[in-house]
Amino acid sequence: MLDSILKNLRVISLPTKTDFRGIDTREVALIEGSAGWGEFSPFLEYDQNELIPWLVSAIEGATQPRAKATRKYIDINATLPEVNTRAEVESILSWYPGATTVKIKVGSDQGKDMARIKYVHEVLPNAALRLDVNGSWDVEQALEFIYGFYDSFDEDLLQYIEQPCATLAELRELKSSCMVPVKIAGDEIIRKAEDPFDLELEDAVDILILKVAPLGGIERSLALAKHHRLPVVVSSALESAVGIGHGIRLAGALPTLDFACGLATGQLLASDIANIPIEGGKMRVADVTPSEALMIELEASAERTQWWQDRVRKTWSVGADEIISEMGWHW
Ligand SMILES: [Mg+2]
Repeated sequence: MLDSILKNLRVISLPTKTDFRGIDTREVALIEGSAGWGEFSPFLEYDQNELIPWLVSAIEGATQPRAKATRKYIDINATLPEVNTRAEVESILSWYPGATTVKIKVGSDQGKDMARIKYVHEVLPNAALRLDVNGSWDVEQALEFIYGFYDSFDEDLLQYIEQPCATLAELRELKSSCMVPVKIAGDEIIRKAEDPFDLELEDAVDILILKVAPLGGIERSLALAKHHRLPVVVSSALESAVGIGHGIRLAGALPTLDFACGLATGQLLASDIANIPIEGGKMRVADVTPSEALMIELEASAERTQWWQDRVRKTWSVGADEIISEMGWHW
């Protein structure tokens, strides 16, 4: 199977519109198999052990039949990187027509974070707000921020805080010591866990963030949702339209979905290999087919392709091979 993967692998370099996670191009490896396209796109700095589920997910996408859709449309949220002027906030929010939920990146500077939230609230006064902290606060900082938020804004405005602190113990302490109601969504705690099934989330996490690639694919994400019995939000890792297509497929297949999903991050890319329309804050549950012309236009150099082939080879040999043979998947 490894030979088939390497033979069918294309590396695409997607320019971003804003500096998101400190990068201005997003490199992804796409693999075409019998069932369509899979995406292998762990960020460049990720360490080897983290890459296995990403490759398993890409192989699932390329070789396995589609999960059955239970809905036709999914609501999406706007995703706002850590920009600091009102003009930037306004411009970025306009990329998500009809969205009534905004996920705001915060955590590096409380003053700037509050200003960013205020701009969002001015531009979209009725939008539900989510704050994504990527685990960077300790419990005390989280409490201070939450109380500061409630001093300035209506408490109904805050839908949840995504990963305010890094560890499960801190999340639990935060929930028990917070004097105001606050919902916590778990992202890194799930996708960076050695075994995301073996986590005791009670009194720590209220909402599960599911990302197809770091969780090892759509079927495994569906199993995780079932296992933890929590409301879920399907989100992305700034993938190309192919990876987003798998997120849409997961969101489409979940038995219940009560929250808007973070699958509109393609709006943060200046070019992509397919267009996934957003209308009235929704995306349609449909297959995504990359455009051959755009793939040629955005193809990375031979050196970068070689680098990704080596990355796949390594990831395969340190454990992905065993998982694939256990799953009984064939090319
Ligand atoms: Mg997050």
